[in-house]
Amino acid sequence: MSSPEAKPRKARKTRSQVSRLLTSSPTQIWKSRISWRITLVVFLTIMAVQAGILSMTIRDYENSRLNELVETARSSIAPLINSRIMDLLAPPIPEESLERLFATTKVKGVAVYSSDLNLIRTYGAPTVITVLDVSSLYKTHYDGNWYEVVFRPQDLRRPFVIVARIDAETVPRQVYSYVEQTILIMLLMSAFVTSVLMVALGHWLLEPILFMRQTLLTATENPENPKIPDSPFDPNDEIGGAIALAHRLIRQNAENMRQIKGAAEDQIHKLAYYDSLTGLPNRTLFVQKLSDQARPDGIESQPRFAVITLDLDHFKDINDSMGHNVGDAILRAIGKRLRAALPEQATVARTGEDEFAIMTPLRDGATTAREVGERIINVIRSHPFSVFNENFQIRASIGVATFPDDAVDPDQVLKNADIALNRAKEDGRDSVREYSEDFDRAVQHRFQMLRDLRDALESNQLSLYYQPQFDLRSGRLIGAEALLRWFKPDNSKQGGTFISPADFIPVAEQSGLIVPIGEWVMQQACIAAAKWTTPEGHGVRVAVNLSGAQFHQSDIVAYVDRVLQEAGLPPTRLELEVTESVFMDDIQHTVQTLQRLHGLGVEIAIDDFGTGYSSLSYLRQFPIDRLKIDQSFIRNALNNPDDASIARTIVGLGHSLNLKVIAEGVETKDHENFLKGEGCDEVQGYRYARPMPGDKFLEFLAGYNGDLSVFDKA
Ligand code: C2E
Ligand code: MG
Ligand code: MG
Repeated sequence: MSSPEAKPRKARKTRSQVSRLLTSSPTQIWKSRISWRITLVVFLTIMAVQAGILSMTIRDYENSRLNELVETARSSIAPLINSRIMDLLAPPIPEESLERLFATTKVKGVAVYSSDLNLIRTYGAPTVITVLDVSSLYKTHYDGNWYEVVFRPQDLRRPFVIVARIDAETVPRQVYSYVEQTILIMLLMSAFVTSVLMVALGHWLLEPILFMRQTLLTATENPENPKIPDSPFDPNDEIGGAIALAHRLIRQNAENMRQIKGAAEDQIHKLAYYDSLTGLPNRTLFVQKLSDQARPDGIESQPRFAVITLDLDHFKDINDSMGHNVGDAILRAIGKRLRAALPEQATVARTGEDEFAIMTPLRDGATTAREVGERIINVIRSHPFSVFNENFQIRASIGVATFPDDAVDPDQVLKNADIALNRAKEDGRDSVREYSEDFDRAVQHRFQMLRDLRDALESNQLSLYYQPQFDLRSGRLIGAEALLRWFKPDNSKQGGTFISPADFIPVAEQSGLIVPIGEWVMQQACIAAAKWTTPEGHGVRVAVNLSGAQFHQSDIVAYVDRVLQEAGLPPTRLELEVTESVFMDDIQHTVQTLQRLHGLGVEIAIDDFGTGYSSLSYLRQFPIDRLKIDQSFIRNALNNPDDASIARTIVGLGHSLNLKVIAEGVETKDHENFLKGEGCDEVQGYRYARPMPGDKFLEFLAGYNGDLSVFDKA
C-alpha cells in the first residue's frame, strides 16, 4: 500500500483533491441522514438522562427551601419564649414580641404546648396540626401556601412544644424557576454536546465515508482505469483501514479486468487471424501481411517478394478414406515442415482446407520466386509424412508469383499465384507453375466463355450430335454416343462457329454449370434414343457422358430414373460414360451410386480408359459393363508398340473381368483390323461416321445395312 509519506508530491495533489471534497463537508454533515439520526439519538438520550436527574433533584430542592424557612422560623421563635416557668400564669411569649414576629418574619401563627403536651395558647393565624401525643411531634403540613412544623423542646432548648404556621408562598415559585433554569442548562448542554458530536462525526466518520463513496463512484465510472487519489486518512483506524482496503480492491479489480480484457483480445485476435488447426496465420492475416510487406519501409525502397500458393493433391481422398483425424494431423505436419524449411522472415499461412500460402522476401535478387516454389515442392515430396504410424506420400500443386514484377497490387499478386496454381492443377498436378500473363488471358477468356455459355443454355445454342457405335464381329449398329455441340452465333459468313466441347466442358465443370447442361443433355438424349430402332427392329442404346460434378449430385439416381420414364426409354438402352477421375473422390458414395444406377438397369462404361489413375481394385468393386479404350492408344497403336500393347492389355483385362471393351477413335481399316485381331468387341470412330445431328443420325440408322465393309470405300 502506498503511504502518503512515500509519495509526497502525489499526496499534496491528492490532499487538495480531498480538501475540495471536504470543503463542502459542513453542508454535507447537515445533509447527512446518518449524522442526523445519530445526533438526534444522542440529543434525546442526554435530554432523557437530564430529565431523570431533574425529577430526582426537584424534591430535594423544595425540601431544602422549606428547611430554610423552618430554620429561620426556629431561630426567630426560640429567643422569644419566656423561660421563667415559675410564673405559670404569665404567657410563654410576650404579645408584643409576637406581633413583631408576625410582622417581620414569615411566621404567621403559633400554637404553644406545655412539655406534657397540653395546649397553652395560640397566637396569630390558627394552625392545622394539633399535638395530641408523641407521634404528633414529627408531623409537618404543607399545602403549597402554608407550611406547618412542630418544634420540640430540644429544638428550642425551652420546655415547650410549638407548632409554627409559616408562610411558604415563595417556595413553589423558587421551585419553578429552578426547573426553568435547569431545563435551559440542559438544552444548552445537549445542543453543545450534539454540535460537538456532529463535528466529530463529520470529521472522523462522514468525511472518510464520503471520500470512499467518491472513490467508489469514480471507480465504477471507469473500473478498468480508476483515477483514485491516495487516501489522507490514517489506515490504522477502522474507516481509514476500510478505505485502504477498498482502494486495494479497486486496484486489484482494475488489474484483473485489464488482464481478462487483454486475454480476451488476444483470443479474439487469434481466432480472427490464425488457423486453429495449424496455428499458422489464416488468409485474412496473410493478405494483411502482404499489404504491409508491399509498402516501402524506408530502408529498402522497393521490396520484392515471392508469393506462393500451394494446394495438396487429392487431399480429399485421404480425408474420406482415412478420416479427418489423419487429415488434420497431416495438415499440421505440413504446416510444421513448411515453417521449418523457410526462413524466419517468410510468412507461412493456411488459407483454405488443403491450401497454404507463403510469402518470402527476395532480397538478394539471386533467388527467383520459381526457385522458392521448387524448393517448397521438394520439401513436401522429400519424404513421406508419418502420421499414426502410417506413411503418407503427399503431393502438392504450386503457383508462384512475384511482387512487384507480376502486379503492383499485393492482392493481385496473390490472385496471380492462385491463377498459376490452377494452371499447375490443370497440367496434371504435382508441379510448380509460375504466373504468366498468358494464364491471365486464358482466365479472362474462360470468364468470357462462361458468360457466353450461360447465354447459350438459355438461347438454345446447344445441340446434341450422335456418333454411332458398332459390334465389331456382327457389324450391327448397337448404339450411339451423345456429344454436345455449341454453335455460337457471330457475324461470320457461316453465321457462327462450333466451339469444341474439349474447350467449354472444363469451364462448365469448374463453374458447376455442367449440372444444368448435363441434365439437358440427358433429357434430349433419352427422348431421341426412344425413337431409335434398326431396320431389323433392334433398339439402339444411347451413351451419355456424365461428369464428376453431375455424378456426385445427391439425386442423380432419382433424376435418371425420372428422365427415363418421361422419355419412355427402357433403362437398358441408356449407358452412362464416366471417367476414372470420378472414382478418385468419395469411393463409398461412388460404389453406392453406381450400384443404384445399375439397379435401374442402366449400363456403365469407363470412358478414356487407360489415361487416368487406373486401379485394378475398383474394376472389381464397381458394377461396370464396359471399358472404353482411349482414342490416343488406338491412334498410335499401329506405330507405337507401347500403345498397341496397352490397347491389347485393356482388351484382355476387360474380358478377364467379363466386361465388354469398346474402342473409340477408330479412323482407318488398319485400326479396325488391329482391334479385330485383339478381340475388341465394339468400335466407334470417324471410319464409320462423324458425330451428326439427330435427324441425320435417324437417316443413317435407316440406311445402314449392318455390314461394316460399306465403310471400306470411304
Ligand atoms: P469423349 O467422351 O471421349 O468423346 C469422344 C470424342 O472423340 C468426341 O469429341 C468425338 O467427336 C471424338 N471422336 C470420335 N471418333 C473420333 C475419331 O475417329 N477420331 C478423332 N480424332 N476423334 C474422334 P468431342 O465431341 O469433341 O468431345 C470431346 C469430349 O467432350 C468428350 O470426350 C467428352 O469427354 C466431352 N463431352 C462431349 N459431350 C459431352 C456431354 O454431353 N457431357 C459431358 N459431360 N461431356 C461431354
Ligand atoms: Mg465419351
Ligand atoms: Mg473418350
